[in-house]
Amino acid sequence: MTHPSRKFMECLQYAAHQHKDQRRKDTAGTPYINHPINVATILALEACIEDENVLMAALLHDVVEDTTATFKDVEQLFGADVCGLVREVTDDKTLEKQERKRLQIVNAPKSSQRAKLIKLADKLDNLRDLQKNTPQGWTQERREQYFVWAKCVVDNMRGINGVLDEKLDEIFRERGLL
Ligand code: NDP
Ligand code: ZN
Repeated sequence: MTHPSRKFMECLQYAAHQHKDQRRKDTAGTPYINHPINVATILALEACIEDENVLMAALLHDVVEDTTATFKDVEQLFGADVCGLVREVTDDKTLEKQERKRLQIVNAPKSSQRAKLIKLADKLDNLRDLQKNTPQGWTQERREQYFVWAKCVVDNMRGINGVLDEKLDEIFRERGLL
């Protein structure tokens, strides 16, 4: 068995600490940290990604967007490379939500290959959640719109990883979008 590095374990601890009071939008109120752990696990075990900085950035992908953490914190703790990846996958929260959604579609193809991996695994995990249940307060229509929007983002990042493409397409096929 390969041993996880100290910095990887510190990263896991940091992400868990930053998200400790947050819950997912599912009806069960799953702890938020399950999602970044799922994204890193999809990349490591399904997409077979061995680049540790990509896996660390996956664990940290929502800390700046959704917690008090700053890019400076991430850079100081985990270095410029990990911070750069987190920056690429972080939405600008000063913008309107619809604009952020539009920019995800527009910016997807401009991202680095490594950031695209994280974006694809992030969408895959969110879609898996949505397949299981509708978030509290969402109509069925809103749920279906999320699948449609996610496909627009994913369509702009094809050919990065065959396994991720296939698993995302399987979901889109099930929703009648392919
Ligand atoms: P949101 O952006 O509000 O919610 C989706 C985001 O929430 C995900 O990207 C994910 O982000 C996070 N999340 C937390 N828990 C879950 C979970 N259990 N399952 C999935 N995601 C979760 O949704 P949208 O605004 O994108 O809504 C979907 C569509 O509906 C859009 O196209 C929008 O235009 C439309 N809409 C409709 C409304 C209506 O009332 N009809 C109102 C608003 C939007 P992360 O990975 O960062 O955690
Ligand atoms: Zn996410």
